[in-house]
Parts: sequence; C-alpha cells; structure tokens
Amino acid sequence: MSYTIPNKRRVVIKVGTSTLAHPSGQLNIRLVEDLVKVISDIKNAGYEIALVSSGAIGLGAAKLGLRERPKDTPTKQACAAVGQCELMNMYDKLFNEYNIIAAQVLLTKYVLSDERKENVENSLEKLLEKGAIPIVNENDVVAIDELELEVGENDSLAAMVACLINADLLIIMSDIDGLYDCDPRSNPNAKLISRVDKITDEIVNSAKGAGSELGTGGMATKIKAAKLATRNGIDMLIINGNRPKNLYDVFDGNIIGTLFAAEK
Ligand code: GLU
Repeated sequence: MSYTIPNKRRVVIKVGTSTLAHPSGQLNIRLVEDLVKVISDIKNAGYEIALVSSGAIGLGAAKLGLRERPKDTPTKQACAAVGQCELMNMYDKLFNEYNIIAAQVLLTKYVLSDERKENVENSLEKLLEKGAIPIVNENDVVAIDELELEVGENDSLAAMVACLINADLLIIMSDIDGLYDCDPRSNPNAKLISRVDKITDEIVNSAKGAGSELGTGGMATKIKAAKLATRNGIDMLIINGNRPKNLYDVFDGNIIGTLFAAEK
C-alpha cells in the first residue's frame, strides 16, 4: 500500500526503550547509530522532525548496575535522572556528527493541560524554526503518577506533542511490526492489520496483551495515542523500530506496519 506524507512535512517520531536498549538494558549502539543517521538524512531531505524518546529509566538502571527495571517509584526516578543524561549525551554526540542540533525537552502532562502549554508550544516552534531536533521525554523526576501506573506514557506524550506542533504524521517505532488481529507472541496465525480507519472495540481488543520487558508500553497505549492523534487530524503509523531503515520506506511512500488514518 502506498502512503503520501502531506505537504507540510512535519513529523513526530517516537522510539521506545525496547528499541533503544538490548534486553540487558544496555544501549543498543548499532541501532541507535542507525536511527540517528536515518533521522538526520530525512531531516536533510526537508522534513521537520521532533523525536520523543524513552529509555531514561532503562539506561539509568543499567548504569546504576541494577539487574532489572526498578519497581519502586523513587528508584525509577533516580534511574530516569541518571539515564536522561546518558540518553541526551548519546543523541547530542550522534546528531552532532551530521551537523544537527539536538535539544532536550522534558515535559509532564500537567504542563500540557494548563496555560504553560503555550510556553511549550512556543519553544518547540522556535526549535523547529531554528532547524534543531527537539528530543522529548516525560520528566519522570517530577511526574510520578505515570511511573506508578506502569503505563507507556510516552505513547500518549508523543500524540500530545504531535497535536501541539500540528504534525502531519506521528510514527511510533515499536518492537513489533504493527497492530495484529490478536497477540502474535502467543498466536502464530496472527495477522498484521495494515490500515485502521476507525478505532472500533474490535481494534481495541486486538491490542490487549502485547508489551515488553524494558519499556512500559504495550499496544493498548498505542491505540490510546492513535485515538488522540487521528481525532486531531494526524495520521499515525506503528512500524518496527528494530530496523531504523524502515523509516526510509515510510518517507518513500510505502506503508509498512499499521496506519491509523486521520479522521476527516
Ligand atoms: N519516560 C520513561 C523513560 O524514559 C519511559 C516511559 C515509557 O516507556 O513510555 O524511561
């Protein structure tokens, strides 16, 4: 199936912990290098890109020598604080190789639901205007309720950012190919759904279950993000992030993964 990215060409790309890190929690260097290279190339082709990146807790946990993702909130916060430095250090260094300026933007959903939303909007606009790549994450040291609920807040955060900057497209890079009609990890006959025009109860049910060890999101949080994006006129794609070059396919006009078409 083919896909045309509308004229404005403003795109939000979200990448999760399970894509950025090995199952050990350590950074997947090859993948991250590929990802930054492909994003830089797409940006050079004239697209405006904002990146929403998880990975702070996972990288922080690995750096602090924890064997698994922490369960209590203060440890998660401490890991996020350590890991966020690691994450930005890595992005800054790698984007720098392609002469692209990385900018850290830490947000909470509270900020986006009061008058401070406009401040965020202005900063993001200015960063995009100046040609920088805003790299957004949840400010986990400040906003702890999502940490306690164990939901993949960055999927929703990515949709909120897409709405805030009037993006044309939101791409969620996941650790599976897209949305299946049932959980492909337990059912080998599961079929990939390539296009969703309406998020029905059946679609919501297909999304139950699949989640990963390192990150917090499964498919359910991605459907929530898709609802927000499509309701606001933004197409959303879920693609497999394990191969960053998949992004070229999208920008070349081919649909891989699952497209949630914007409501008209
Ligand atoms: N903000 C968290 C982190 O950087 C991740 C939240 C999520 O997985 O959606 O580790």
